[in-house]
Amino acid sequence: MSRTQHDLQTTYDPSKGWSHFVLYTEPERGTVTSGLHAAASFEQPTRYVKEWLARLRTCEPNSLHTLLVEDRKIPSLFDPCVYKDRESPSAIAGDGCVCAQTSMDPEFGLPVVAQHYRTVSGNIENWTYRTFAPAGLRAGESFESLIIDERGYIWIRTTSGLLSIIPEGRASGYSVGYGGGGPTALASYLRQLVETDGQNTEPLARAYDEKPDRNLLAWTTSKAANVAQELTLDDLRRIQRG
Ligand SMILES: [Zn+2]
Repeated sequence: MSRTQHDLQTTYDPSKGWSHFVLYTEPERGTVTSGLHAAASFEQPTRYVKEWLARLRTCEPNSLHTLLVEDRKIPSLFDPCVYKDRESPSAIAGDGCVCAQTSMDPEFGLPVVAQHYRTVSGNIENWTYRTFAPAGLRAGESFESLIIDERGYIWIRTTSGLLSIIPEGRASGYSVGYGGGGPTALASYLRQLVETDGQNTEPLARAYDEKPDRNLLAWTTSKAANVAQELTLDDLRRIQRG
């Protein structure tokens, strides 16, 4: 079965209100995860992470959230934060907390789990947000710009101004600034964007081209790519021309 099968709708459209989500499992190992969507994780509240967080809606835990935590942590999805209940099973000594709060991204229909880590007394406190990258932009929308964020997070701005986590298949692992698989996967995806005028935003069926574009690859592996910046399709074309 191919992901392009006509009745498999893997990109959520808020006007329709539903999409398919494909699971991958290794039953004998107890592994259950996403079959198509790559996992994404944000540990630092950069400007773009904040923009994304601002649109999330808190919701009750559902089966998609269970894919974002270790199996033994699934019960913690149902625990309140120490800030709401000092006696919560995820609270530590009434002051620390290891809760996991659930929400969803209403634009892409994807689950989000915010994992709280607060030591007793609060000397260390942080939130890590786990979710999945979309399997492409929504129908009718195309690529406007590529955003290299701080901490190596990579986003896309759509033609309607919407911020999206860059669409990514399982195990593509986009990254920038060194010679390796991540920058090669990104260069391959960028070539697809340039060659389709930003229309085809689906992740590549293979993680990366066997012969990636030389100039795009030279850029994704360079230090110049490893700084916060926003690039339009014209910018990417210029890079590809060399
Ligand atoms: Zn908490």
